[in-house]
Parts: sequence; structure tokens; C-alpha cells
Amino acid sequence: MNPSDNVAITVKAVAMGTELMPGIVTQTEIPQGHKVALQDIPKDGKIIRYGVTLGYALSDIAKGAWINENMLRLPVPPQLDNMPYATNLKTDLPKATQTTWMGYENPLGGYAGTRNLLGIQTTVQCVQGVLDVAVERIRKELLPKYPYVDDVVALNHAYGCGVAINAPEAIIPIRALQNLCEHPNFGGELMVVTLGCEKLTADMLVGPENNTPENVVVLQDHEGFEAGVQAIMVMAQKKLEKLNLRRRTEQPLSKLLVGMQCGGSDAFSGVTANPAAGHASDMLVEGGATVLFSEVTEVRDGVHLIAQRCVTADVRDKLAAEMRWYDNYLEAGMVDRSANPTPGNKKGGLSNIVEKAMGSIAKSGTSPIVEVLSPAEKPTKKGLIFAATPASDIVCGPCQLASGIGLQVFMTGRGTPYGLAAAPVIKVCSRNEMMDSWHDLIDINAGPIATGEKTIAEVGEELFNYILTVASGDEQPWAEKHRLFNYLCIFNPAPIT
Ligand code: CA
Repeated sequence: MNPSDNVAITVKAVAMGTELMPGIVTQTEIPQGHKVALQDIPKDGKIIRYGVTLGYALSDIAKGAWINENMLRLPVPPQLDNMPYATNLKTDLPKATQTTWMGYENPLGGYAGTRNLLGIQTTVQCVQGVLDVAVERIRKELLPKYPYVDDVVALNHAYGCGVAINAPEAIIPIRALQNLCEHPNFGGELMVVTLGCEKLTADMLVGPENNTPENVVVLQDHEGFEAGVQAIMVMAQKKLEKLNLRRRTEQPLSKLLVGMQCGGSDAFSGVTANPAAGHASDMLVEGGATVLFSEVTEVRDGVHLIAQRCVTADVRDKLAAEMRWYDNYLEAGMVDRSANPTPGNKKGGLSNIVEKAMGSIAKSGTSPIVEVLSPAEKPTKKGLIFAATPASDIVCGPCQLASGIGLQVFMTGRGTPYGLAAAPVIKVCSRNEMMDSWHDLIDINAGPIATGEKTIAEVGEELFNYILTVASGDEQPWAEKHRLFNYLCIFNPAPIT
């Protein structure tokens, strides 16, 4: 990956006694994607990949030996004070080969929608059962009458009551739910179902000016189950009539907001899928679009590299503040960033969080970073943005949705069927084997980069084109076709009562 590396990863599993390069003979069998020492590394010596110290050897490692997660000690994370900024602002980005797409103008302004959906927001989990029954009926009885509306989405979540609503950190889940109401795919048609006695009131969620009988169904105001369902259906019909008038129009790339995420990563993620996503991200940014990348624990070890790409001291300062907040959040739970990697990550060759982070940040490409967002905030700038979120797939997704993403690009090495109901999710896999086995779940295969059949730029351009095709509604990625929609897990770092 870098001339200073003293390890490399295997493209395929390698038998013991194989000469990989002149003078480098494998000491044991080495699994696919795992590290092999390119030189003798003494105890406490640096193990270097991506030109970065992944850790320190716990004992002597011979040339040709397999290096797994039990053989290195984690380095201290990069410090956050006075990080140099704006020292790596790249301007020669790969050219966007297409500069428009077909999207839905958002009546509330801002980014355009990629789908035309009736989004039904909720203030509290208590209403989910009734709402789910109503949504099933809406889909069956009403939706066929409104052919220009793609779907109905119930925004059920676990927040809203039984929570310390005035805790300082409650601002995160509340902001997430507020911003979700204004998602561009919902076309400015506000519809909220509440119970009536919960802590998160409709006033808090949508503002007193929007808390009207036209927008809000209060279940406790209706006489029984059937009446509550009926009230939801009557309101839904009115909203569907308006949404059915929406049409796609030609939009500039500046009206497109794309989120990047990875999950179930392996050692190839940083070699194939994430760099290809980074190339697509650079093309999008060059064309005027906005791209979010996230996952705090997965950039923490490369934060100094991210800071160098921040355009101003203010952006750098907010980056450091978000990292510090997360350091403290983890410390309060008596863990650190090393809690991030999963058993699957390790099986895929990722020894620790530093190695995972170096692969993860590759998806941000090389563009300058124009803004840093707190979890679930909306962007105010165009270009590449770091949106601080947990790395957990199912928590990062809703955070980025709240920021307003029209679609998410999801890179995976081990595979996950994850998807979002409110915006399409495109899957990019890191290995050919993944594509072969999950042919009806993976949309783009970056594996040919590892086998030398395609370049990062080629797969990156393929992904860029596919992003615009999906955003324009001309194709559905597999997760959308199969309706693989995860629950909305809203990030709540505040206490539950
Ligand atoms: Ca993730």
C-alpha cells in the first residue's frame, strides 16, 4: 500500500512455504486478506501498513510470518490539540462525467429528493403498533391510487418517552427526529402520529406552527383502535394527493447529498471498495455535489490526516471537538476506540482499529473538507463534509438520513443486507468472493481492483454513474428491490429513565 510498509496482505489464502516475493517465504498458511511480514520485525518494532504504524510487535516476528490481531499492541491515538490544517488541499479532482440528475425539488428548499415518499413521523415508540397496521392498509388500499408516490414509510423509533428529555445530550436524538421530518424525500408533506402523553411533544418535534390537526394525529384523542387507524388513513390520503403531483426534474449535482458508510469491513475494504468510493466521492464533489463521510471511531486514528484537509481553523476545531466528545463518551463507558473492531473484521484480516481506520477514511477520497457536523445536523456548505456519527451501521444510517442524504453508498467486505426505507442504499463489496456469494445483494464489485483486472478509477467511475442512475430513480439497488429496511436506531447518548 505504501513503500514504507513492512507488511502486505494476501489476495488469496496462501499455503505454508510459498515464495510470495524473492526471499519472502510464508512461515505458515496465511488466510485471505491477512498480513504477512515482509521483513523481520523485532519485539516492540513498528508494524507499518498504509505508511502508518498499526501497532508494535508483542514479540519477534520473522519475515514471511502471519501477523494477526493477537500479535500487536495498539499505539496511542493522535493528539487533538493544534492539529495542522489546510496543508493538504487538493484541487485536481477527477472530473465529474455527468453534471445533472433527475430529482424531486424540495418545497422546503435545499437538497432535492431521490424518491417520492409519504413519511409518517412519530413522537414515541408507543404508537408503532397502530401505525404499522395503518401503513399496511395505506399501502394496500390507498397507494395504488397514487402512482407517482413510491412508498409509505413509518418513521418508528425507540425514543420519545421514558427518557431524560432535558439532559444536555438529548439534543442529539431530538435534532435527529426533527431533521428527519424535513427529509427531501418526503416533499415537505408533514405527517406526525403521537400518543398524547409523551415527553417528546409534537410542538418540540415540528414546532407549534406545524402542530395542527392537518399534520398531527393524537391517538389518545380518538375513541379506540379503529378510529385511530381511520384518522391516520384520512390524513395520509390528503398527503398522498399532494405528493402525487411531484415530478422529477433535471437537477444540478449541487442539489445532490450523498452519504458514505462502510460496515462488515475486511482488509480489502481499504484497498478496493473504499478507495473506489473515494474516487466516486471526488467526482461528485468536483461536479458540485455534497458528500458526507462519518464514523468517528473509524477516523480517530487518522484524524491528523483529516485535519490537513480541513479548509479553515474553524473546521479543524470542530473536528477536534467531535473527536474529544467521542473520546469522553467512550471513556464514560470505560472503553476506548479499540472496542470497535468485530470478530468478522478480525477474521477478514483487520488486526485493530488503526488498520480499520486507515481503510475506512479512504472512502472520503482526497477532496478538501469544508464542514464538520455534529450527529444529525444538516449541512450548510457544499462539498466534502465530515458528519460525526457512531460507526455502528444501523446508527450511522439514521444520523446521515437526518442530515438529509438522498442515498447512501455502503462498502462491505464481509457482507450485510442492511438498508434504509427512506433513502436507497447502494452496496459495494471489496472482494470477488463476496460478489459471487451475494450476487443478489451486492450492487457493485470492487474486487477486480485486488486481482488487477480493474483500476480504482474505473470502479470509482462505475460507482459514480450508478449513484446518479439510482438517485434519478432509473434503477433500484438490491436492498431497495428486496425492501430490506432496518429499524431506525436513533443515536441517544443521554440517559433513559
Ligand atoms: Ca459502519
